[in-house]
Amino acid sequence: MQLVDIGANLTHESFRHDFAEVLARAAAQGVTRMVVTGASREGSEQALALAHAHPGVLWATAGVHPHHAIDYDEATDARLRELARLPAVRAVGETGLDYHRNYSPREVQLRVFEQQLAIAAELGKPLFLHQRDAHADFLPLLRRYRDHVPAAVVHCFTDTREALHDYLALGCHIGITGWICDERRGTHLREFVREIPADRLLLETDAPYLLPRTVRPQPSHRRNEPMYLKHICEEVARDRGEPVDVTAANSTAAAVAFFGL
Ligand SMILES: [Zn+2]
Repeated sequence: MQLVDIGANLTHESFRHDFAEVLARAAAQGVTRMVVTGASREGSEQALALAHAHPGVLWATAGVHPHHAIDYDEATDARLRELARLPAVRAVGETGLDYHRNYSPREVQLRVFEQQLAIAAELGKPLFLHQRDAHADFLPLLRRYRDHVPAAVVHCFTDTREALHDYLALGCHIGITGWICDERRGTHLREFVREIPADRLLLETDAPYLLPRTVRPQPSHRRNEPMYLKHICEEVARDRGEPVDVTAANSTAAAVAFFGL
């Protein structure tokens, strides 16, 4: 089984001490290719450095997460535009809106989201999108730019069936994380994950966050890592009523096509 982890925060400090082992354990579980999420200016630089250090295994995105929107200045905008042109950078993001925590004021999030939508449109790059508790503001902005970008993935999708179908109607891809393995809050996803077309369903760990609760035994450190992606694939396969090999093959083909791996 070959899997692609389309969202791994491998620049996180918790991976610094055993990075080579993390990649080796992932490969041993069939996770041979990963897209490293860039979520801040510095993080995007680090994601790019990792991609350059591991060609054919790691690729990067370049963007500023809505939590960090307050740090987005002209220099950040200019640098993101440079990063997004580089061949190892396969998408603009993560970018979007997060009204769950509101670490940055909403009006700043909206402005910074639109600036990054404009970069993706200008360069013709795919979008790696984050939306939490902000669908009503997120959708019209995305709709305005959707025709100007080749592809867009709403990563770590956790919203409602209605939101799902709004994104599918815009031709978006949907990223599913270990959220779906959480019987306390992921059961709604289990009901409608089968409504996502196979060629637009992408799998991601969002490591080191969102350790799948189906991993047994749960590691004491609670750190998620790409090797656990198959637990997400298994849950999605169960919910779609299809063999796990089919889910794996389809999601891998979709990821390869989306990011041009
Ligand atoms: Zn996110």
